[in-house]
Amino acid sequence: PQLAQLRGVSKFYENGVEALRDVDLDVRAEEFLALLGPSGCGKSTILRLIAGLEAPSAGTLTRSFAAGSVGFVFQEPTLMPWAKVFDNVFLPLRLAGQSRGKAAAAVEQALALVGLEAFQNAFPNELSGGMKMRVSIARALAPRPSLILMDEPFAALDEITRFQLNDDLLRLRHETGATIVFVTHSIFEAAYLSTRIAVMSPRPGRIVAEIDAEAPRG
Ligand code: ADP
Ligand code: ADP
Repeated sequence: PQLAQLRGVSKFYENGVEALRDVDLDVRAEEFLALLGPSGCGKSTILRLIAGLEAPSAGTLTRSFAAGSVGFVFQEPTLMPWAKVFDNVFLPLRLAGQSRGKAAAAVEQALALVGLEAFQNAFPNELSGGMKMRVSIARALAPRPSLILMDEPFAALDEITRFQLNDDLLRLRHETGATIVFVTHSIFEAAYLSTRIAVMSPRPGRIVAEIDAEAPRG
């Protein structure tokens, strides 16, 4: 089954920038799709279109998941600095209407998946960059979204931390069966993590190749 289908999608911004031209792309359930391309080729634009945060200028986009059922992970962890790790994951669930008990159980499970059980009571400024990123990932996973969109999540981290997070991501994808669309300009990351790679041209972004990658070892 498809979670999202783009057909002949183009995107012009109001300033006249043509960000995307004639993009055909499917997001299939339970895949790990890497969008690989140079800076400015429209990768983030595709994520925003899939999430429904923007509309295509031309072409069609169909989605088979609920509007709220998307988790985002950005390069900047954007944690609430005044809230403990637990509450950073817990409060969004409560705001979305989950009961206290159900939300707390989901937080525990999500923090365990990223190996941060022992840091529930820490504040974000007590954590390393890699640990903050793990909290962001836990926050995205906790509501069990249909789809997780990651926009160059590890680009700001040092290489060793990035490699660790790559392995963590492979493992937790196997454990959760999450569908992930991952934007990167790292060929290594795309090849290591994904089940499928869509390669984009420089702006205006077009899909110039689709590669079925090896099933990742996890
Ligand atoms: P954009 O949304 O414009 O593509 P990115 O998220 O790709 O920006 O880039 C984030 C940061 O990384 C920026 O400071 C950018 O200058 C830098 N950057 C972009 N491309 C590369 C690259 N290939 N290698 C190293 N740094 C890069
Ligand atoms: P990527 O994620 O591949 O770096 P983006 O999707 O962020 O690319 O941007 C694609 C192009 O569209 C870039 O040239 C960028 O400057 C432009 N762009 C992105 N968002 C806007 C916007 N809100 N208004 C105008 N231009 C934009």
